[in-house]
Amino acid sequence: MNQDFISDCQKAVRIPSESGKEKDVAAFIMTVMEKLGFDEVRIDAVGNVVGRIRGNGSSAVLFEGHMDTVGVGDRADWIFDPFGGQIDCGRIYGRGTSDMKCALIAMVYGAADLIPEKEKLQGDVIVAGVVCEEEFEGVAQGTVLDAVNPDLVVIGEASELNLNIGQRGRAEVVVVTHGKSAHSSNPQAGINAIKNMVRLIPEIHAMKLPKDDFLGAAIIENTDIISEPYPGASVIPSSCRATFDRRLLPGETEEDVLKPIEGIIDKLKKEDKDFSAEVYLARAEKQCYTGITIGSTRFFPAWRFGENEPFVSKVHSALREAGFSSSISSYSFCTDASQSAGVRGIPCLGFGPSKESLAHVADEYILIEELEKARLGYKVIASAVLCPDVNKVQE
Ligand SMILES: [Zn+2]
Repeated sequence: MNQDFISDCQKAVRIPSESGKEKDVAAFIMTVMEKLGFDEVRIDAVGNVVGRIRGNGSSAVLFEGHMDTVGVGDRADWIFDPFGGQIDCGRIYGRGTSDMKCALIAMVYGAADLIPEKEKLQGDVIVAGVVCEEEFEGVAQGTVLDAVNPDLVVIGEASELNLNIGQRGRAEVVVVTHGKSAHSSNPQAGINAIKNMVRLIPEIHAMKLPKDDFLGAAIIENTDIISEPYPGASVIPSSCRATFDRRLLPGETEEDVLKPIEGIIDKLKKEDKDFSAEVYLARAEKQCYTGITIGSTRFFPAWRFGENEPFVSKVHSALREAGFSSSISSYSFCTDASQSAGVRGIPCLGFGPSKESLAHVADEYILIEELEKARLGYKVIASAVLCPDVNKVQE
């Protein structure tokens, strides 16, 4: 079955699955779950694939990974075929190897490894491959959570097999300044929206933001800017829009993000009657491959659980006992757990093969050795949570 595991990872990489185009890879993962003997496999309305192994009890652990990938970028930057799934020097190469179709296949196999012992499980093991994470972290995951109501969620994003108990969140903040168009040969007849923006940006960057010893600092960083009309030959621009990436710490709300910027805008308005601006959170929509459109405000909260939470220490010691050297750590990027942990407060852990730095790069790869360990790790985590008596005996 081990050869099947690695070859199924390769097959998943060979099926392109950019956000909104996950149909074929979802169908493939469904066949893998069926082949391995999951009790129930289905595809939901937004196109997530959800497989269940039935235990003896009412609790449920959800292992979740996203099926979508970012694009390949410039093919010329790749030495390996991004959709080749080629093995070289103990690595599988291709888009979605590290981020994160291979980890998802490891979850499917790791869960299936428990099927012979499923009578001992005090609940169900569920594995879900979700859509559109690269567009909206956690929005499609929400559909799975609604349906399966898990007691614990394990996300498989790359953690170098560490046990991650938190991450910063993110918000996409849009600031628009307004002006008045005029011919630029006669600028005093208009109000230049760019000049208003140029006053606003340094004040936004100078805002004092909170810090967290474990997760790092909250951040606000300008990521784009455009004036209207663009290009603006001989025209004083009537508006100017800038986007900011705001990285969030636990507890920060939409209001916490917007209020301080509104305060700066109000202050500048008082100083200058020609100053006019507004701030809001970006909103976006995406059509899933099933035809359903999902959308959200781009606000994905941070989350963090304590190292001493019983579910954390239980899983951590089980991994240690099984020979893993996992430390307690956190993600620096944003993940689907913004929904499960950040919005809903469901206990959540991150455990995955590979490194964050291998996501979204040319010649993305994953180490086969680490993938095999991840498969074992998922089995260990599910048993630790769903076979507590067995663990007690081992202790
Ligand atoms: Zn990812």
